[in-house]
Amino acid sequence: MSLHTQTLTELRAGLTQGEFSALDIAESCLAAVAQQDTSFGAFLSLDAEAILAAARDADITQPLGGLPIGIKDNINVLGQPCTCGSKMLENKYISPYDAGVTKKLRAAGAICFGRTNMDEFAMGSSTENSALRRTINPVAPDHIPGGSSGGSAAAVAANFVPAALGSDTGGSIRQPASHCGIVGLKPSYGRVSRYGLVAFASSLDQIGPMTRSVADAALVLQAIAGHDPQDSTSLPVAVPDFSANLQKGVKGLRLGLPKEYFSDGLDPAVRAAVQKAIDQLANQGAEIIDVSLPHTSYAVATYYIIAPAEASSNLSRFDGIRYGHRASAPADILSLYERSREEGFGPEVKRRIILGTYVLSSGYYDAYYTKAQKVRTLIRRDFDQAFEKVDALLSPVAPTPARLIGGCTNPLEDYMADVCTIPVNLAGLPAISVPLPTSPLPIGLQIITPHMQEALLLQVAQAVERS
Ligand code: GLN
Repeated sequence: MSLHTQTLTELRAGLTQGEFSALDIAESCLAAVAQQDTSFGAFLSLDAEAILAAARDADITQPLGGLPIGIKDNINVLGQPCTCGSKMLENKYISPYDAGVTKKLRAAGAICFGRTNMDEFAMGSSTENSALRRTINPVAPDHIPGGSSGGSAAAVAANFVPAALGSDTGGSIRQPASHCGIVGLKPSYGRVSRYGLVAFASSLDQIGPMTRSVADAALVLQAIAGHDPQDSTSLPVAVPDFSANLQKGVKGLRLGLPKEYFSDGLDPAVRAAVQKAIDQLANQGAEIIDVSLPHTSYAVATYYIIAPAEASSNLSRFDGIRYGHRASAPADILSLYERSREEGFGPEVKRRIILGTYVLSSGYYDAYYTKAQKVRTLIRRDFDQAFEKVDALLSPVAPTPARLIGGCTNPLEDYMADVCTIPVNLAGLPAISVPLPTSPLPIGLQIITPHMQEALLLQVAQAVERS
């Protein structure tokens, strides 16, 4: 039985009706990985014995009982490697604890299924920055899967697992979801615990689900959302029922089109696919309204000051002593630090650390970091003002479909392509990428709602999926 191709919702129904067991599901997923992952490169590690043991013990009465979920390799899973796609941690670190989301997934009965590939320390948007493995786009094998959660996107798109967790600092859930034709949801900042997520930029990072349907994204979010006393930035607010409004439709909703997200640089195929989705939502009774987010053009520059600044501080722990690769036979303590970091980090991570250290250094702090924080406030206010006129915003996820592997010559090209996703992180808002019916390359529609309104986000997403 090809159980690995089914959605969480379908698998749940089959399990409850006794059509198959959790062990059947795990075996089907493991067989699919064994057959195809040598070429796709979605997983960095996978403990088949532990997965089978968990499947045998599964309590299928739980919300995600017996259902396998891939975990991005920057989220701690007790007893498993956690490399962040970096030589710094490869064969150097076994998680001594479960992340907040890992604990919640286990409590909901899910099976943590393998560690997925990623851009090193989540820096990138192609998964080409992984120091450990290449991942290809299962839908279009010459193309990147997107990133940084490219392994999670590929694992779900290749039908290895029905769902995976990703992390999104500037688009790393939504963009690979868009490029691989799956659903990817970045929750509101504070909705999901970051405890046990290896920090890239702490004020932007958020963990979220990557699935093959909107209903499945709601199920996984339900399991991982909520306050965690071990993460003071996770908000102590009630978690609503994310599936309750899924069938409500968009009749009477005001949906805004931010004109800055539909600029001339948009690929014609992306423009056409997004426009078609907008027309269909209008046909279903939504009111489409033009809005403006005037500070959008500053978002990428602002992000590439704030994110590297936070990263330069967060990554200082990888010094060859407390964490990570240790250079052999150093002459003294300074050369131990220098050589360990020189040998352990890849080029993109070094670029970010240098950039971040620079913008935080005395004499430049006010000119770059403080200024970026002020612009961040302006960007957040743009959204506040737009949400006085509309209930949700619609936009492309990325200006183009997935590019070719090796097709980026200057990192700035990839940075600029984050223009539609980055503002959402700067403002701390929830957003989702929903696949549109395109070929040959997948294209996603981005929906953005006000803070903590994931239920509305999923309601609009379901209307797009249905049409
Ligand atoms: N592409 C962006 C970056 O490289 C976003 C990464 C992310 O969301 N983790 O910083």
